[in-house]
Amino acid sequence: MKKFKIFKSTMRGKIFKKLDSLMFQSLTKERGHICEIHKRKCPQIGQMHILSKRAHPRLRYCRENILLAGWFCSHYWTHQDTTDERAIYAFERIKQLLGDNYRERLLIIEMGQPKQTITYLKGLLIAFRKEST
Ligand SMILES: [Zn+2]
Repeated sequence: MKKFKIFKSTMRGKIFKKLDSLMFQSLTKERGHICEIHKRKCPQIGQMHILSKRAHPRLRYCRENILLAGWFCSHYWTHQDTTDERAIYAFERIKQLLGDNYRERLLIIEMGQPKQTITYLKGLLIAFRKEST
């Protein structure tokens, strides 16, 4: 039983990895390979989840919840030290980009998102792959 659990979580991790990569491709295609916080090329661009993946797993693949952001210029600080001026600036930019009530809007979207079961994630992967071809 324990073995099965480990297998399951590994499979989940693998699906997440593929989905994350396809999501990143799709977002950079749509928005450009830039940091949306600074509107320029910053080092280590990645996906910054506005409402965190851990607290809001159902918003992991919600485009409205993701900004492309440089790791060292903004993203890292929003996790590490929210009182750091780089984090404060990132939160200001999120408000500018999404509106003051972005949190409420995302929470409403979250209520309509399905639970991320393996079956759901596999379906999402098929859809993402179709989209990327
Ligand atoms: Zn940046």
